[in-house]
Amino acid sequence: MDGIIQGLSNFRGTVFPGQQQMYRQLVRDGQQPQALIIACADSRVSPEHITQSGPGDLFVCRNAGNIVPPFSQQNGGVSSAIEYAVVALGVRDIVICGHSDCGAMKGLMNPEALGSMPNVAAWLRHSHAANRIVCEAYPEGMDPKERHRALALENVVVQLNNLRTHPSVAAALAGGKLRLHGWFFEIESGQVLAYCGERGCFVPIDEATSVPVAQAPAARLATPEFAGSHVLAAE
Ligand SMILES: [Zn+2]
Repeated sequence: MDGIIQGLSNFRGTVFPGQQQMYRQLVRDGQQPQALIIACADSRVSPEHITQSGPGDLFVCRNAGNIVPPFSQQNGGVSSAIEYAVVALGVRDIVICGHSDCGAMKGLMNPEALGSMPNVAAWLRHSHAANRIVCEAYPEGMDPKERHRALALENVVVQLNNLRTHPSVAAALAGGKLRLHGWFFEIESGQVLAYCGERGCFVPIDEATSVPVAQAPAARLATPEFAGSHVLAAE
């Protein structure tokens, strides 16, 4: 803990004095984060660091495996963070950020290693769909490293699907107020890939072109003539 306490001391003594005005303004005006980022709790994956964001920029929720449990009547930390970000803070973008070398995905591939971690095993149930996709839809003889990477990528897509089951998210998407993003951070290269919903694949984020979006806002509210049939009209 010595390094952490030293960091606190440096922050308070050296960094904070130069940022006090900014912190005071954030208290006075309240937070208006640009996005909600749901990332893995892995110590090497810091959303603030990889996006070079500062205090007030991101509303962050981290857990083992960057998982979003599907909506249910049971209360949960991730569900509450999503609802608060969308309804109270009005965020316009939600990012689910997976990463390379993810320990949670290794656990998913080797459930026998989770014998002494019943909570982790239960939590990873929310990623079972990704595991089934890789087991049944990918080539059998895949290299374990490739399989692990494929699983982490598919897990991002599965969690995007889970995210859409949350009423606050579904309503904001239908109202054209929200965009969903699926990212994958490669620790070894520093590159971030983004899931392109139109093409159904991950592509590198290149600042020269627009950022690929998993789901763009598409206002499809029923107009009077379409009331009751807007789902058909959208197809
Ligand atoms: Zn991870």
